[in-house]
Amino acid sequence: AQLRRRLESELEDIRGAGTWKNERVIASRQGPHLRLAGGGAGAYGAAGRALGFFPRCDARGSLSVPAGILNFCANNYLGLSSHPEVIRAAVEALEKFGAGLSSVRFICGTQSIHKDLEEKIARFHQREDAILYASCFDANAGIFEALLTPEDAVLSDELNHASIIDGIRLCKANKYRYKHMDMQDLEAKLQDAQKHRLRLVATDGAFSMDGDIAPLREICHLAQKYDALVFIDECHATGFLGPNGRGTDELLGVMDKVTIINSTLGKALGGAAGGYTTGPKPLIDLLRQRSRPYLFSNSLPPAVVGCASKALDLLMESNAIAQSMAAKTQRFRSKMTAAGFTISGKDHPICPVMLGDARLAAVMAEDILNRGIYVIGFSYPVVPKGKARIRVQISAVHSDEDIDRCVEAFTEVGRKHGALP
Ligand code: PLP
Repeated sequence: AQLRRRLESELEDIRGAGTWKNERVIASRQGPHLRLAGGGAGAYGAAGRALGFFPRCDARGSLSVPAGILNFCANNYLGLSSHPEVIRAAVEALEKFGAGLSSVRFICGTQSIHKDLEEKIARFHQREDAILYASCFDANAGIFEALLTPEDAVLSDELNHASIIDGIRLCKANKYRYKHMDMQDLEAKLQDAQKHRLRLVATDGAFSMDGDIAPLREICHLAQKYDALVFIDECHATGFLGPNGRGTDELLGVMDKVTIINSTLGKALGGAAGGYTTGPKPLIDLLRQRSRPYLFSNSLPPAVVGCASKALDLLMESNAIAQSMAAKTQRFRSKMTAAGFTISGKDHPICPVMLGDARLAAVMAEDILNRGIYVIGFSYPVVPKGKARIRVQISAVHSDEDIDRCVEAFTEVGRKHGALP
């Protein structure tokens, strides 16, 4: 009873702080058009009054939204989550290789499809080798501890993803946090870190809250000057940034200068699950021996491997899907800018519509959802105070009409609430 009281009080604090996260229940496949479970009203359940994150519930926590909605808030950048060939590949892998391995990789859990996928990932990124994990969160949790010792240093962008921050926490290296994308600060920290044996600069390739892209050319230049290695997390870049969708390093022409890439199979690459590290062979060999989330967690299920493998085949055959997504991103960004909105970032399918005021972001997101378009408002503490926004994510499977409907809804709602003249 004491534990229950303590937990309930903690939950009440979360609600009171306006940071309660509701989970919407979807009754269809992931895609640009979703059907919510149970129709419109109450689709989120009565679990919480949404304040801040999901401000769409009434006082009792029930919702009133259309059952069929246009979805602009998944990381399904290339629309592969429900691609028929990806689904077929998963079914075939399930039939041929079973539901799962009931084992970690090194005991009895490596099948030919795991090795094939690792080889394909390395080829896609033009690296020597790759290692699979259950998630990119795990890949980030495993790498720093396996690679860095108290003699070494890691220099991390202050806005890096939580999984990088947690991974760094687990290692015993000396830790430096540089200001977000601030090259002067990084240089100062690199100078300070010269006393250590090895320096690793760690950054997201693309940052998911702002849709901004790390200045990798400058980072690699500094890394060369101060004899450091570069690590990038490419979860919001793999499959679609750069001329062939290889990622931020390809986009910025530094594929040969970035040493380590971690990324996910759970976003653009089919959206099922899984993550990986790709880089020099001895590093991958070391991770297989030392990385704890790899050593002590079950192998990726065959169906998941099948999805990712097919997604990579599709991307290596042609960059048409990535180009289609880029064109739609451009359409959305230019139409919204012409309408008078400020969109953060540049050329990235994460399009944060900057509104400043938290309440404005909340009521606008609610009103846009009432028009059947699903977008998410973010405010403090998820983003800094005064920088509230509605985040829109574009997918290759949005039609031009979908994009235009979204822009129209923003424009109408923006005028209604005074965000536009
Ligand atoms: N890194 C970044 C930048 C992410 O956005 C995410 C997921 O949100 C992760 C890592 C974790 O990826 P996964 O879902 O594969 O664990």
